[in-house]
Amino acid sequence: MYHDSLTECLECGLLQRNPVLPPGGAAECVRCGGVMHRDRPDSLHRTLAFTLAGIVLFIVANSFPFLSFEMQGQLTQTTLLTGVIDLYTSGSWFIAGVVFFTSVLAPGLQLALLLVVLTPLALGQMPAWLPSVFRLVRTLTPWGMMDVFMLGILVSVVKLSEMATIVPGTSLFAFGVLILVLAAAQAALDPDLVWSRVPPLTDLSRPIRPGDDHLTCDVCELVMHRGAAIRDGRQLRCPRCTDVLHRRKPKSLQRTWALLLAAIVFYVPANLLPIMTVTSLGRSQSDTIYTGVVFLLDNGMWPLAVVVFVASIFVPMLKLMILFTLLLSVQFRCTWSPRDRTRLYRVTEAIGRWSMVDVYVVTILVALVRLGNLATVQAEAGAIFFCAVVIITMLAAMSFDPRLIWDVLEPEHVRAPRGSGNLASEPSGRSV
Ligand SMILES: [Zn+2]
Ligand SMILES: [Zn+2]
Repeated sequence: MYHDSLTECLECGLLQRNPVLPPGGAAECVRCGGVMHRDRPDSLHRTLAFTLAGIVLFIVANSFPFLSFEMQGQLTQTTLLTGVIDLYTSGSWFIAGVVFFTSVLAPGLQLALLLVVLTPLALGQMPAWLPSVFRLVRTLTPWGMMDVFMLGILVSVVKLSEMATIVPGTSLFAFGVLILVLAAAQAALDPDLVWSRVPPLTDLSRPIRPGDDHLTCDVCELVMHRGAAIRDGRQLRCPRCTDVLHRRKPKSLQRTWALLLAAIVFYVPANLLPIMTVTSLGRSQSDTIYTGVVFLLDNGMWPLAVVVFVASIFVPMLKLMILFTLLLSVQFRCTWSPRDRTRLYRVTEAIGRWSMVDVYVVTILVALVRLGNLATVQAEAGAIFFCAVVIITMLAAMSFDPRLIWDVLEPEHVRAPRGSGNLASEPSGRSV
């Protein structure tokens, strides 16, 4: 479907022809090696099936308790929502909001909106609201973190097993399957297929030739003549998905620097202050992220200790360092291996969300361990700073435009901000 069209690689900005893809094949960018398109057989119906299964599992997972905590004859149970409510009533509204958004609202909305988009498409219809709803699905996707939440449940169970009896609830199994189904739905979804069905609002029939003044939409990846874009005041909008068009992410360097510096500042209290206090039978103990890892090690849970160390200490540090290096390299117009730097950027985008695991552990413990004088867990200030670091570094990675790494290599491209520089060669993407 795409072999006759042009694509701009959104990671390096090179415009190239789409190769013909074999079933299940992928098109790689000839310059940076990023995957641009993937052929997903029977995408529409498979995604719809996984979405429907996901919705049923999501309802089950949210209706029943996922863990029960029993101590000296007293029992508490927690569902996802009661966990969030307990955090909120104990004063940690910021963490409660983030946990609610990432573990309930984002995945739930993502499933519901996918159903809303895919059903009319499967029936051969194209309602006018479809592009804006599908754009929202794309925005929500990186914020759904049920898989990370599942890891949080695992860590919590291990932490509490010394203290009391933990009984897995009905919804824990629904959770486990839901995570697989969500991953399958995401793997089956072919955004290009959805966008290719949306009729553009302006005439796109004029072919783009070398040297033409063109624009690429960051959302639906449509390549168009500047004249084909919709004028909306001082902005240009995409004639297909109606998103605002930018040659590069707006103010990418300034925004990423600001977010990165904020994350570095918050990183200090996030690691120095305790994230929670466990009170059991009159004894109180506060844990920082680091002592939490030591606790797991002391109890012989070294595989879990390694996981938490990597997710909570190593990954945030690595992310801050990579973003700092990338920003400096762009700022000083460095030409060192742009392919490797683009690869580093891909790593920061992929790993950042796993750092949320300790935030989920705090949520689950607060919700489960509330037995008055017998045992309670309270969230502490460190958890708020830590949660902020994870969110801010995710936003920083999103606001960084990896195409800036490559712009330095093409001086004529930078001087001609209308983006006509690299069409002359017009290479073809690699089919793999
Ligand atoms: Zn590329
Ligand atoms: Zn678009």
